[in-house]
Amino acid sequence: MIDLRSDTVTRPTAAMRQAMAAAEVGDDVFGDDPTVNQLQDKLAELTGHEAGLFFPSGTQSNLAALMAHCGRGEEFIIGSLGHSFKYEAGGAAVLGSLWPCSIEYEADGTLDLKKVAAHIKPDDAHFAHTRLLVLENTQSGRVLPLAYIKEAAAFARDHRLGFHLDGARVFNAAVKLGVPVHEITQHFDSVSICLSKGLGCPIGTVLVGKRELIRKAHRARKILGGGMRQAGMLAAAGLYALEYHVQRLAEDHANTRKLAEGLARIKQIKIDPAIVQTNMVFAAIAPEHVQPLTAHLKSTGILILPNANLRLVTHLDVSAADVERVIVAFRGYFAGR
Ligand SMILES: *Cc1c(COP(=O)(O)O)cnc(C)c1O
Repeated sequence: MIDLRSDTVTRPTAAMRQAMAAAEVGDDVFGDDPTVNQLQDKLAELTGHEAGLFFPSGTQSNLAALMAHCGRGEEFIIGSLGHSFKYEAGGAAVLGSLWPCSIEYEADGTLDLKKVAAHIKPDDAHFAHTRLLVLENTQSGRVLPLAYIKEAAAFARDHRLGFHLDGARVFNAAVKLGVPVHEITQHFDSVSICLSKGLGCPIGTVLVGKRELIRKAHRARKILGGGMRQAGMLAAAGLYALEYHVQRLAEDHANTRKLAEGLARIKQIKIDPAIVQTNMVFAAIAPEHVQPLTAHLKSTGILILPNANLRLVTHLDVSAADVERVIVAFRGYFAGR
């Protein structure tokens, strides 16, 4: 199957599995797992931060970061399509007693800092204290401009806000910009980085930040049930991915562009290939095509999520030849309709 539903569907390669099987392990709740420690240190170093902390998921890493930045009843500002606002089941409110303030993203995936400023609450008993600004990079496949990130960091400092990046796919952003990842991540107080997306690991996210913030996040991770034991087998996949699966993200970006250009030649598909930046294509089709198209693709060995607003995601299990097959299958469906 060619699975375009997400970049989370990758299966660990044989070499990654070997690295996992060979990992030295210990009890990470005691801080004893050398491979987990190595992964945490490695990502801290790569991102320009003091410390790292390994989590089972990005959802938990983001939540622990929010809880480390904000106390009970305090507020964080985030995009209305931000993962921690929309796609984490309200965990910040349910488990963190935190209050989200959401703002619409601009067309480039940034938050307009004038709008953010207007949502920072004055010190008045009516309002929750505003503590944190959260950005996402990539945001729906879009790469935040470096100049904007620097401006937003200065803004957060001026307004005494913490500055967190949901960097689930920040390596896609770095590869796209052609810069080392620290050029992006060093401007934030904390960054959550998924290993289980384009980097191809079966599981895992690392949160990086200042030592004191990571200490707080470590306590939050315990509360959230994320303390793991011989997790070095999972961390070994992460170390492997950092070595072998980062630069190859450029192949995914090239494949995505080819896919977008191929689909743009089909008149029933609305798509602007110019906006494709990393590993996601967004395209619109008429609602009546959703079910039959999904079924047709499935019958030819291609999986997509059924939606009139299609999101197609490439990853290390999708080759350039697969992309050709996908374009042919889409053409086959729409021919004569
Ligand atoms: C996938 C993702 C996460 C974390 O998701 P998990 O499935 O919990 O690992 C966080 N933020 C963004 C933007 C994501 O795409």
